[in-house]
Amino acid sequence: MEPLNKPVIRALVTGGSGGIGAAICRRLGAAGHYVYVHAHRGTAAAAAVVGDIEAAGGHAAAVHFDVTDAAATRAAVESLLETGPVQILVNNAGIHDDAVFPGMTSAQWNRVIDVAVNGFYNVTQPLILPMIRTRWGRIISISSISGLIGNRGQVNYAAAKGALNAATKALSLEVASRGITVNAVAPGIIATAMSGSSFDAAAIAQLVPMKRAGTAEEVASLVGFLASEEAAYISGQIISINGGMI
Ligand code: NDP
Repeated sequence: MEPLNKPVIRALVTGGSGGIGAAICRRLGAAGHYVYVHAHRGTAAAAAVVGDIEAAGGHAAAVHFDVTDAAATRAAVESLLETGPVQILVNNAGIHDDAVFPGMTSAQWNRVIDVAVNGFYNVTQPLILPMIRTRWGRIISISSISGLIGNRGQVNYAAAKGALNAATKALSLEVASRGITVNAVAPGIIATAMSGSSFDAAAIAQLVPMKRAGTAEEVASLVGFLASEEAAYISGQIISINGGMI
């Protein structure tokens, strides 16, 4: 159901069909926001997240587009804007495609950067002016510890997340006086489909001082806080959540 006459804040979470994105959607739904659960290919997963939010008494709808397709993304975002501004944006869609650098193809390099960096532009840019007009907004991008300290086999992913961190800082300066905060969250190893194949229990015990992977819900709690009124004075920050890795 669309929020027509209610003063409900509308949130868009890209990659809401994925592990971390789904948890963020549920968290924002539980906070009373109207959540647009975005997917690219995972339309069934996004519909399930909408179902979860509605079963918990919240309101949500699924949307789908490829964030690397500038025209399709602009059209989808503009259609959301027809019924009002989106005041919470979580840029969570992301991929990794690992290879040691001597063997990394240009396709691997471009694809990872396309989703994270061009995806940030394609989704955020059309939303920003309507958000500015409301004088309240939250933009939170899901970065990675790789963008802060690097990781072998992830030169492309580290570059993409590092760019996201820098874009976060620059945009935060442009919109700080308009009541909009712009932050990034940099997770370490989080137990989802994306990380599942990369790290076994022994590797996690060695890499993570807390000797466990984080959960998607723990990342979602941090995002939920940053999206709240209580976090109004936090902007331009890259906030780590990694069990003490750095
Ligand atoms: P998942 O693989 O579970 O989810 C990735 C999401 O990104 C999916 O919803 C997918 O959509 C979406 N996506 C991928 N490509 C596109 C595209 N071209 N257009 C639109 N959407 C796209 O990953 P996680 O939940 O684990 O990761 C979420 C974010 O967290 C990512 O940015 C990741 O880099 C970051 N992260 C994850 C860590 C981890 O350990 N899991 C650690 C640090 C950061 P669909 O499936 O519908 O196609």
